[in-house]
Amino acid sequence: MLQIYNTLSRQKEYFKPLHEGHVGMYVCGPTVYGDAHLGHARPAITFDLLYRYLMHLGYKVRYVRNITDVGHLEHDADEGEDKIAKKARLEQLEPMEVVQYFTNRYHRDMELLNVLPPSIEPHASGHIIEQIAFVQKIMDKGYAYVSNGSVYMDVEKYAKDYPYGKLSGRNLEDIVTETRELDGQQEKKHSFDFALWKKAAPEHIMHWPSPWSEGFPGWHMECSAMGTKYLGEEFDIHGGGMDLMFPHHEAEIAQSCAALGKESVHYWMHNNMITIAGKKMGKSYNNFITLEQFFAGKHELLEQPFSPMTIRFFILQAHYRSTVDFSNDALVAAEKGLGRLTEAYQRLMKIKASAASSVEIGNLRERCQEAMDDDLNSPIVISHLFDSARAINTVFDGKGTISEADLEELRAVWKTYAMDILGLQLDGAQDAGAGMDAYKGAVDMLLNMRLEAKRNKDWGTSDKIRNALTELGFTIKDTKDGFEWSL
Ligand code: ZN
Repeated sequence: MLQIYNTLSRQKEYFKPLHEGHVGMYVCGPTVYGDAHLGHARPAITFDLLYRYLMHLGYKVRYVRNITDVGHLEHDADEGEDKIAKKARLEQLEPMEVVQYFTNRYHRDMELLNVLPPSIEPHASGHIIEQIAFVQKIMDKGYAYVSNGSVYMDVEKYAKDYPYGKLSGRNLEDIVTETRELDGQQEKKHSFDFALWKKAAPEHIMHWPSPWSEGFPGWHMECSAMGTKYLGEEFDIHGGGMDLMFPHHEAEIAQSCAALGKESVHYWMHNNMITIAGKKMGKSYNNFITLEQFFAGKHELLEQPFSPMTIRFFILQAHYRSTVDFSNDALVAAEKGLGRLTEAYQRLMKIKASAASSVEIGNLRERCQEAMDDDLNSPIVISHLFDSARAINTVFDGKGTISEADLEELRAVWKTYAMDILGLQLDGAQDAGAGMDAYKGAVDMLLNMRLEAKRNKDWGTSDKIRNALTELGFTIKDTKDGFEWSL
C-alpha cells in the first residue's frame, strides 16, 4: 500500500483518497516570465512520477497544475513590481504576450522531459472572479481588513483561532523577525500580514475592478481559489517545491481555514531543492542554467550538452526529499547510467527464450512496487533495474538462459517501471531529436560537397548531387554565401 510523507504531520502516512478510486492533486506551477530551469524540472518530474504511479495503481487522477501570470511580485512580501508586468515593460510587449511565449516554451521543455500534461492547467488571470469571491469569504468571516484599497489577511486574529505556521514549523515571533521592513508596510497592521488583494499603483498595467479597488489578487490567493474550484473544498494532495512552504503554502492553509473553516488539503508533499556546485540557485550566483542551455550544452558550467532523458534520470536517481547537487560530472555519470539501462532494455527486447532459466530474475515486480510504495523511492527502483540488467547481459552474452515466462515477465516489468512509471524513454524515442539533427547535418554535408565541386568546376558531381536531392523532394537555392534548402 502506498505511503507518502505528509509535510504537515512530518511522517509517512498510508495514502487514502477522499473518494474511492479518485485522486485530486494540485501542484504549484511556474510563474511564466522566463525560461524553465533545473529548479522547475524537479517539481515537474517529482509530481509526474506521483501522477504516473497513482494512475498505475488504478486511480482516476485529476491533476491541476497552475500557471501564475499575475500577482507574483518581485519581493514575496507583497511588494515590488509584478514579475510578468516588469518583463512586458522591458520587452515592450503586452503582458499576455510574455505569458503565452513562456508558457509555450515551458510546455515544450516539459514534453522533452516526458512530463505528462496535467488534467487542468488554470491561469491565475483567468480566475479573478473566483479569487475576489474567496477574498470576500475571508472578509465575511472577519479575518481580513481593508487598508487603502488593499485587503490584508489579519494573521494575528487568525492565529488566535487556528495554528498559523504549522506547515513550516514557524511561530509568529519567528515570522516577525524574518519579515523585512519594506515600503507599503505601513498599510498593514503587522509585518506578518499578507495581501489578499492589492490596489494597483497608477503605473501598474494589470488590474481588475473589485469591491475594494481597481487592483489584482495577492500571489497566494490563486492556488486557494483554483484548487478548491477544480478539486473541491477538500482534496487529497497539494505539492510543490520546499521553497514554497513559507510563505506561499502557509498562506494558502490560512486562507482556506479562514474562508471555509477547515483544511482543504489532506496530504502536503514537497520536493527538496537542487543546488549547483553546493550553492543555492540564484541570480546573484549566476548559476541559473535553463533547460534549453542543458539540452544545447550552452552554459559556462557545462562541458557538453545533456539530453532531456539524462536530466530526468539525474533527478529520479535521488529521492525527491533529498537535496540534489548538480555538477557537470554528476550529469556525465547520470548519462552513463542511463546509457547502461538503455542498452539493457534494448538487449532485453532482443534476447531469445530457452527451455529454462539459469539466471535469477527474483521478484523484481514486487521489489519495484515496494520501493514505489515507500514514498516514491525512485532511486531504489533504479537500483533494482540495474540488478536485473546484470541478468539480461548474462543471457545476451550467451553465458546464461532465460525461460519464456521469465522473459515475458521481465519485459513487462521493465515496460511498467522504467518506461511507464519512471517515464524513461529507453526505446530510442529520445533519439528522435538527435536523429533530426543528424539528418539536417547529412543534407548540409552533401550540399557542402556540391559547393566544393562547383568551386573546382566539377559540374558533373555538382549536378549529380543537386539532381539526386531534387528527386528526393528537396528544394535547393544557391545564395551569395552558399545555399539554402527545404523539403
Ligand atoms: Zn501555489
